[in-house]
Amino acid sequence: MLIRGAQIWAADSAAAQDVRLSGGTIAAIGRLPPLPGETVLEAQGGLLLPGLHDHHIHLPALAARRASLVCGPPAVTSEETLAAALAAAPGQGWIRGILYHESVMGLPDAAALDRLMPDRPLRMQHRSGRMWLLNSPALALLLSGAEPHPGLKREGGRFTGHLFDADGWLRAALASQPPPLGEISRELAACGITGITEMSPGNDAATAAYFGAEIASGALAQRCLLAGTLALAEAPQAGWRLGPAKLHLHEAALPDFDATVRFVAQAHAQGRALASHCTTETELVFTLAALEAAGAAPGAAMGDRVEHAGIAPDHLIAEVARLKLAVVSQPHFIAERGDQYRTDVDPADRAALYRLRAFLEAEVPLAAGSDAPFGSGDPWAGMRAAVSRATASGAILGAEEALAPEQALALYLADPERLGRQRRLAPGEAADLCLLARPWAEARGRLSAGDVRATLVAGRVVFQRVDEPPAERHPG
Ligand SMILES: [Zn+2]
Repeated sequence: MLIRGAQIWAADSAAAQDVRLSGGTIAAIGRLPPLPGETVLEAQGGLLLPGLHDHHIHLPALAARRASLVCGPPAVTSEETLAAALAAAPGQGWIRGILYHESVMGLPDAAALDRLMPDRPLRMQHRSGRMWLLNSPALALLLSGAEPHPGLKREGGRFTGHLFDADGWLRAALASQPPPLGEISRELAACGITGITEMSPGNDAATAAYFGAEIASGALAQRCLLAGTLALAEAPQAGWRLGPAKLHLHEAALPDFDATVRFVAQAHAQGRALASHCTTETELVFTLAALEAAGAAPGAAMGDRVEHAGIAPDHLIAEVARLKLAVVSQPHFIAERGDQYRTDVDPADRAALYRLRAFLEAEVPLAAGSDAPFGSGDPWAGMRAAVSRATASGAILGAEEALAPEQALALYLADPERLGRQRRLAPGEAADLCLLARPWAEARGRLSAGDVRATLVAGRVVFQRVDEPPAERHPG
């Protein structure tokens, strides 16, 4: 394929160039006449850049959340509106309802739910989060692969379909039915995303098999770096690459320090980095101490990383730099949660919230990830927030942390396995590309996913905007 007349990201020359793709990589860049029969995509001066990488995302949770149906007020208030919502549920297979409340129709048993949804397995979570209501197909499917849990209530020997406090059992029983990732993959591709780092701490061999299958089937088009448990290192790598070991910290219940140091050392021994969840200052201090005690990652390994760095005062940024750590931030949290931070976060800490420029000035490799479904999956929203530092209500939080649009874009162009390295377009590099519908001089002021015209992974078009001329075969 030939992409003709594109502005090339970070090129020495601003002149439009042609890019030839072959065998999944960039074969040549320059003034290149089309070969006979070659597919040509006319870039019309639009910017061509390396595909964006989301450096911190939770794909299965995002797919599950996306696939969930709200089954309670205000959207659903009666048996009739619940029946209508269930009948309109998209897709096939499992229906995962959330936010059910007994004001809708009490606590219906399996037989009552069957009347509303007889064909597809339905599990509906009560708003309290502690109870699931199951229909008969759901009960049959769950019990086909798992012993009944004591939380599964019986009446007269029959299961009612009410399940209490048994999320672990439910997850295990559902293990053979994780959510399909195709729809999420297409949405990410429409934003120009060609790679993701999956950051769920529990990712293990089962997760790896699930990702392997979704990649093999073509449902998941992005390159995947899987972070997670130490056990993940044992899983055969099928289509995905092994990422950092994930440490999930909660300030209120920090793990044993010595055990954490051992965890870091084991990750390093596997050739893996540590990725540590640090939303609070205490979590960051704990992480820095553990990394100091465990010693730096060996030279060949990818660098250790701080996820979020939600609160980072100057003296800790200096420590992050001294220990040669990278930071993966969520700039859009300022837009999405900034107004809440302004009321909840101690005024003394507000200047330390989700800092960006301070890390760059300390020469700390800085990248960004969505943390979806806990934040928007649109990287362009992240870039806009990095530039504006504006909350939803329009307040500005940490104006001195704002980045230039080029710096904001660069957060998504870092090499996922070496965050200090920026990916570039050059012969021999992977043909993971994002083509914008306009030149950078125009796009930089908008930073909009709507400007993404085409996305390619390994030279294959995985997204193309319908209202733009498609790639066409050159008559030769
Ligand atoms: Zn996360």
